[in-house]
Amino acid sequence: MSWDDFAKHAKDAADWGASYHNTLRDRPVRAQTAPGDIAAQLDKTPPETGTDLAAIMADFDTIVMPGITHWQHPRFFAYFSANAAPASVLAEFLVSIIAPQCMLWQTSPAATEMETRMMDWLRHGLGLPDIYQGVIQDSASSATLAAVLTMRERALSFRGNIEGLRGQPQLRIYCSEQVHTSIDRAIWVTGIGQDNLVKVRTTGDLRHMDPLDLEAAIAEDKQAGRLPAGIIAATGATGMGACDDLEAVAAIAKEHDLYTHLDAAWAGTAMICPEFRPLWQGAAQFDSIVFNPHKWLGAQFDCAAHFLRDPDLLRQTLAIRPEYLRTHGATDVMDYSEWTVPLGRRFRALKLWFLMRHYGMEGLRTRIRNHVAWSQALCERLRAEGDFQIVTEPILSLWTFRHAGASDAQTQALVDAINDDGRIYLTQTLVDGQKVIRFTAGQFDCEQRDFDTAFDAITQIARRT
Ligand SMILES: *Cc1c(COP(=O)(O)O)cnc(C)c1O
Repeated sequence: MSWDDFAKHAKDAADWGASYHNTLRDRPVRAQTAPGDIAAQLDKTPPETGTDLAAIMADFDTIVMPGITHWQHPRFFAYFSANAAPASVLAEFLVSIIAPQCMLWQTSPAATEMETRMMDWLRHGLGLPDIYQGVIQDSASSATLAAVLTMRERALSFRGNIEGLRGQPQLRIYCSEQVHTSIDRAIWVTGIGQDNLVKVRTTGDLRHMDPLDLEAAIAEDKQAGRLPAGIIAATGATGMGACDDLEAVAAIAKEHDLYTHLDAAWAGTAMICPEFRPLWQGAAQFDSIVFNPHKWLGAQFDCAAHFLRDPDLLRQTLAIRPEYLRTHGATDVMDYSEWTVPLGRRFRALKLWFLMRHYGMEGLRTRIRNHVAWSQALCERLRAEGDFQIVTEPILSLWTFRHAGASDAQTQALVDAINDDGRIYLTQTLVDGQKVIRFTAGQFDCEQRDFDTAFDAITQIARRT
């Protein structure tokens, strides 16, 4: 393909994109295909000769699109939204054309310097103090892995990378029972082991870690000769939005000299609105904080903002400098691959620049405020109906409910029926061992009318199943 042909096809793809988004409300949100439907239409071996792009595009429409769950659908109320605002899509398109590698300052100075500046913009947007420096990770899972590695190395005086874990003290990490599976995975991958992740009981409306239980667990471990290394807290955990008491966690960490990491992957975005910041009161005392602009803020996946009080701890944990990665003749430059597990790095800052400049922080705040207000209004409407039970109250735009009197099996059947209907998409979770339906709003283009449709779909389908 010549680059002139590329330009023609790219224009077609842009037209396709506009029409796709303009007609999204006419499609069922969740793919309605059965397992294997799509694979059956794909050849088992690659073609020996090339095919015209027009034919490939046509197959894309007929084979691929029916098997897509529409994450950009305005009535996507499942999981957490993974937005791709059009301004950020354009930036990603440009990045995919330039395709630079951004591991060192010299491998793309603009990418490095913009990354520093965009992390400053985000920090400012969240109201965090300017002591924090930042790096863009591919995902919150990677930021949490980097944090747990840092906890491990800091506790072992940086001997773990060299000597391995054999013969070292038994490390212990603490978190709440509400945390995301990315924390369990980080514990596995760092060799600390699941048995050494202490999940502390939660309490109260926000399901925060009980500080007394946390203290007691640390004291017991010390008594037994184990080595506490860090605490991972959550603001807006995935299931029902649990928020830890960050002031209490930070105080306990300080007393025991533990490294603290805050997972605010979803809820962090809401902190651009000052009125929501009480939910993470104390965040500014944490050693590291991660949130995903690729969820609620509008930056295309992947983009996880990782803030650090002392990046040297992370660099001491991860930096390797063989000769071929040395930058000669430029001092005082940032080599972000020393802050991340992967060496190769995409130019992720550009989409943040496009996003924040195009919408402005005020434009982004308005969206978050609308989502929270519309979601909470829907919760009240359902409560007022009388035959629905709100199981956990809204935390930002996330709440859980069930049709009163339904068994777990009936609740699951209702979720499935709603998703088969296609007007909206919801998921289930467990609260205190009971199956509940989870509602969360955050799609970039959703409007009030989409919540009216959600009300209609939920009430109609619940009453007929
Ligand atoms: C989504 C989510 C994660 C995982 O984020 P990735 O970027 O997909 O790794 C971690 N923690 C919480 C609370 C989340 O909501």
